Amino acid sequence: MSADLHLERTPEKRTGLGILWDGFSSALIGLTVTLTTLFKPKVTELYPMEKPTLTKAYRSAIALVHFDDIDTHDCIACSACELICPSDCIELTGEKMPGSKKKRVDFFEMDFSTCSLCGLCLAVCPTDTLKYSTGYDDASGSSAWVHDLLEPFDDPPMEELARRLEERAAKQREARAAARGDHPVKKPAAPKAAAAVAPAAPPEKEGGDA
Ligand code: SF4
Ligand code: SF4
Repeated sequence: MSADLHLERTPEKRTGLGILWDGFSSALIGLTVTLTTLFKPKVTELYPMEKPTLTKAYRSAIALVHFDDIDTHDCIACSACELICPSDCIELTGEKMPGSKKKRVDFFEMDFSTCSLCGLCLAVCPTDTLKYSTGYDDASGSSAWVHDLLEPFDDPPMEELARRLEERAAKQREARAAARGDHPVKKPAAPKAAAAVAPAAPPEKEGGDA
């Protein structure tokens, strides 16, 4: 029975008029699709002539955030990202800043070839100085695909950097105090002049020693 059904569907069984109608209707359907698409908004982009539109969720290799108030990144070389990375693709070193307890990173590399873009490094960074970059046409022919994260930054001298960081910390303290509704601490009044507060001298006795 199945063989009979197959035979019924073969083109040899169709009449010439049926085949003509099939071809005509198929062309009509195709033309309708073409005409409908012609008047829809364009969704294709002329890559690489046009820069692609990236969504907010787009993730590429991690990079350091530039903060305008200190005009550089804020990596304190705490190594939290390096320690939590499951792919072991972060390598960094840092040194203490002169005259400060804070550290500053002086070497920061990540191997993008093993990064899974899991986001754990971003989640643990205490200064929020890690982000995903938006590179989209990166390519490498090497098994190691190393990015120098400090390459886009030109740090100022350490003293200047320490000054900017202190200025920023002071502003943050002020903002926190304002948010709590704290009032500026009043300075204690200056002590009155000693003469004004000193006890009055006892009156001289009449007829005292000459
Ligand atoms: S995104 Fe994940 S895998 Fe990539 S560097 Fe960060 S912690 Fe490592
Ligand atoms: S967690 Fe943040 S501050 Fe700490 S080393 Fe990594 S990037 Fe720098």
